[in-house]
This record gives sequence, structure tokens and C-alpha cells, in this order.
Amino acid sequence: MNKPRKLIIAGNWKMNKTVAEALALASSLKLDLANVKEVDIVVCPPFTALESVSKATLDSNIKLGAQNLSEHHFGAFTGEICAGMLKEFSVRYVILGHSERRQYQKESDALIAKKAATAHAASLKPIVCVGETLAEREANQMEQVLETQVRGSLAGLTKEQMVETVVAYEPVWAIGTGKTASTEQAQAAHAFIRGVLGQLFDEATARKVRIQYGGSVKPANANELMSQPDVDGALVGGAALESRSFADIVKNSV
Ligand code: PEP
Repeated sequence: MNKPRKLIIAGNWKMNKTVAEALALASSLKLDLANVKEVDIVVCPPFTALESVSKATLDSNIKLGAQNLSEHHFGAFTGEICAGMLKEFSVRYVILGHSERRQYQKESDALIAKKAATAHAASLKPIVCVGETLAEREANQMEQVLETQVRGSLAGLTKEQMVETVVAYEPVWAIGTGKTASTEQAQAAHAFIRGVLGQLFDEATARKVRIQYGGSVKPANANELMSQPDVDGALVGGAALESRSFADIVKNSV
């Protein structure tokens, strides 16, 4: 696929996989995807499997991501994980503001912006998720919601940091539901997000930012979505839990 920005395809394993299962999946992906150079491939296991997946993917083209981090650098924050701890396992990316965390942990745009700044301070690349609910889309509020989330979650980043940040457009109604945005819906939302980035930073910066689509991505629909001009990859949930389907999504995109 000939794209202006290098595609980035990330698997969000969420709260799945024991260490043994994570190792098996990572080892299988490493073998299967060894020849893929054209795409940035990222896997985001649960914290408990980061160390073993890190060792298993050493010297491979598979990069490691985490699913969250604390906005703090250390201290009395029971149950939290800080950027420095992730760096110990050669983590390079971190998913921030996933809709599940926005919904269940009540994460706000302001908190996500703090986490994004913390990630950059540790040279971790944030994958910042935004997306509207079904009710918001049906009430014609999609653009307003996306603009608020993009401006709020990326507030305070420099242009240089923005270029090293990935935005994931994940319509909440498409996550884990089997309902995928149509290519037109995805392209329209991505173009809109890029437009907001252009206002927030500048056009040249916005052109460099990679915007992934997420929401029931599968081997059967991934390529069509990623062939849209403003869709620069995919954030994959369910289909990333199985080696064959994630590998097919990556290989078909090349
Ligand atoms: C996700 O949770 O980031 C996601 C896109 O999940 P799924 O692919 O299962 O819809």
C-alpha cells in the first residue's frame, strides 16, 4: 500500500492472556511477521506479560506497547504503573484514553493530556484514543465530541511531540461489537481529526501525524479501511488475540 505516512498496526490485548499465552502469541507473531518492514507493528499485552513479551520480541520488528500509565513519575499511587517502569521492559508505545478507561475509570481529557506529557517526557509514544458513542453520532455530535477530545487530550504538546504521537479514532459503537465504521465514515472522521490537528498545531504537523482506525477491525475489512487517504493504520482488539488474524491484517496491508 502506497501511503504518505508509515502504517502503524497495533494489537490491544486488553485484560487477556496469561504470561504463557502471551509468550505463545508473541512468538508466533515474531515468526510470521519477520519479513514485514513496511509497517510499524506494535503489541500491547497486559502489564504482567510485558517482561516476557519484551524478551520474546527482542531483535524483532515487533514493538512493545503498554495499555496505560500513571501521570506521576513515582510515589504513593497504589496500583499504578509509571513510565520508568515501562521503560525497563523496552516499551515504546502506550495506549492512552481508551474508551474503556474513559468509561470505567472516568478518565478525562485533562488527565489523558497529563499522561501524554508524562509519556513524552520518558520518550514513550502515546497512542491517544478518541471516538464518539452511538448516541453522540445519532445526535449529530460526532464532530463536536471529536474536537473536544482531540483538543483536550493533546493539550500542551509541542509540535515535535505531536508528530511522535499517534491518534486512534475508535468510534465507541464499533469497539468489540462487530460493527465497523464504513470506509466513508472512517475517512470523514480521520480527515476531520486531521483538520483539528491543523488548527491546533499547523498543517505541516497535522500531515505528519498518524491516525489509526479502531473498532472491529478484521482481516476482511482492514485493508479497505487502511486504504483511505487519512487512515494510517489500525488499533485492533479482538482480532489481535489470535496470531493468524492479527498477522493477516498486517500482511494484507503490505
Ligand atoms: C479496541 O478496543 O481498541 C478495539 C478496537 O477493539 P475491537 O477490535 O475488538 O473492536
